Amino acid sequence: MKRPLSSVRTRLACALFAGAPLWLTSCGTDSVDCEIDAVFTDRQAAEIRRAADDWNRFTVREVTFAPEGEGDWLILPASVTLNRLGYAQRKRRLIRINPVTPDDQVYAVALHELGHALGLGHVKEGVMDPDRQTIKFSAFDMAECRRAGACAN
Ligand SMILES: [Zn+2]
Repeated sequence: MKRPLSSVRTRLACALFAGAPLWLTSCGTDSVDCEIDAVFTDRQAAEIRRAADDWNRFTVREVTFAPEGEGDWLILPASVTLNRLGYAQRKRRLIRINPVTPDDQVYAVALHELGHALGLGHVKEGVMDPDRQTIKFSAFDMAECRRAGACAN
């Protein structure tokens, strides 16, 4: 899989942050290199990219986008029978977003699912709260991001 140069930079940042030699740290430093399925509308794809941009303001990992066939992570529509708006599977490097998600909610869903891709789990507050759609990062989210190793201080 093609790795963007930025993953070298984020790996270095993480190694320095963790105080470990570059070759020793795993730290989940790979960037999340995504490919947005062509089935999404332009508006939906733009909302997904906007969510990535917002994570990238403070993560040491980076969410990047690759052309078709070159992405490491796939962002695909889910079956319409899905009873939630989206989910992420880290092992399969897969994010699914329910195609019936209203356009104005795609951002919130993408923000949450990209959080999983960056290594964050569920909590009872903020963007990683599975029961609420939160569209604004808080200090709590920052702390969770640091705890997951996806954000530096
Ligand atoms: Zn979730």
